[in-house]
Amino acid sequence: MEGCIFCGIARGIEKSYTIYRGRSIVAFLDKYPVSKGHTLVIPEDHYESVHDTPPQVAAKVWVAASAIASYFRNELGAPAVNVLTNSGKYAGQVIFHFHVHVIPRWEPMKSFWGGRRVLTDPEASEVLDMLKGVEKKIEEYLGAL
Ligand SMILES: [Zn+2]
Repeated sequence: MEGCIFCGIARGIEKSYTIYRGRSIVAFLDKYPVSKGHTLVIPEDHYESVHDTPPQVAAKVWVAASAIASYFRNELGAPAVNVLTNSGKYAGQVIFHFHVHVIPRWEPMKSFWGGRRVLTDPEASEVLDMLKGVEKKIEEYLGAL
């Protein structure tokens, strides 16, 4: 959709730190992470939110998010992870292209969106390094659908 930043990321027009691309979905680092590794998963096609995303597309997005959450907990030792989506302005949705947040929690959270900041290039490189094996895990999960 014209003017949609996530459509731009899906098409590779907008810059993003992509950790996975395939099977019509994309996973990339949130530009304003609340924790180190905060990732978003989106369908390549434009749907406003979870309520109008077809089930087979939503399934791929959620399963990829599960794979990333599993990677944080089981491979990287994150003690906790949030996996969520915001549907609608009142729920805090800001970008109206369906996306699921995967937020590893390395320490007890003080407030849900607390600590949100701009992702720097050095932090992004560090996170991409941490997530080197995640692509394989996502493929494994999506292959099980
Ligand atoms: Zn879009």
